Amino acid sequence: MVSAPKSPEIYDLHTHSLHSDGTNTVEEIFAMAAELGLAGIAVTDHDTADGWPAARESAKRHQLDFVPGIEVTTKFDGIAVHILAYGVDPQHTALAAELQRVRESRLGRAQRMVERLSQDFDIDWQRVHDRLEPNGTVGRPHIADALVESGHFADRGEAFKLVLHPGSPYYQPTYAIEATDAVRLITAAGGAAVLAHPAAVRQRYAAPAEHVIALAKAGLWGIELDHPENVSSWLEPLRQTAAELGLRVTGASDFHGTGKANELGEMTSSAELVAELREFVRVPN
Ligand code: AMP
Ligand code: FE
Ligand code: FE
Ligand code: ZN
Repeated sequence: MVSAPKSPEIYDLHTHSLHSDGTNTVEEIFAMAAELGLAGIAVTDHDTADGWPAARESAKRHQLDFVPGIEVTTKFDGIAVHILAYGVDPQHTALAAELQRVRESRLGRAQRMVERLSQDFDIDWQRVHDRLEPNGTVGRPHIADALVESGHFADRGEAFKLVLHPGSPYYQPTYAIEATDAVRLITAAGGAAVLAHPAAVRQRYAAPAEHVIALAKAGLWGIELDHPENVSSWLEPLRQTAAELGLRVTGASDFHGTGKANELGEMTSSAELVAELREFVRVPN
């Protein structure tokens, strides 16, 4: 019997839920993924694996594949760099301690920013806190949402542009692991480290080749070249560097629900790539 041609099996490897700064539950994201006909998704909340148990349940319910991930807050030369950690053991002692430290720092930092903003805007900590899941990772998007709710700004994007960007007098930096150390730590915890959105427009320039080379030496597994916020004209040199270093190229939407324009499944990775990823990691699903 001749079988009908199958639609390609594709995965969205970068999404955010209410456990960090996404606006949907994990279950809602899986329901959307099923609707779109994706083969599977990764849930990659900032600095937490708290969404994984719900993701495993939802994956079963919708007969989808779940790829566990965490988007780790790091810095390189003092600049914020996000590293996706796929298939790590979240109980790995040193990794868990670092994530805990980052999350605690984020909390103090957000409180400090809200304190400063409250001098000029209708906002208080309670209103930001009320938006969080228990133990959820707080970020500037939650502050943005509270400011939008008070009518100060139209959406997250406007709040970021006007008061939440790093040059703003209200801005406070947060603790972050050195990116090369993060890659080593993720790898030691059984994970595959992938440099997230290396040419995102908000970074103002693409990740320099020297940084990518240093990260590769530390054990970087892949690089997220297919991402809606990457500036396409900045990608060619990165593609070349990635090829020279033997890095895998991943694709994903970085879906944040209504918090960003990025649409689920807008950019994707192949089933072959996901199979290779699973071979590499300690916690494949
Ligand atoms: P934070 O983690 O507190 O440093 O905030 C950074 C997060 O805010 C990132 O994960 C982005 O998803 C989100 N973000 C950054 N810029 C914007 C923007 N212009 N609109 C909406 N979300 C944004
Ligand atoms: Fe985010
Ligand atoms: Fe990111
Ligand atoms: Zn992200």
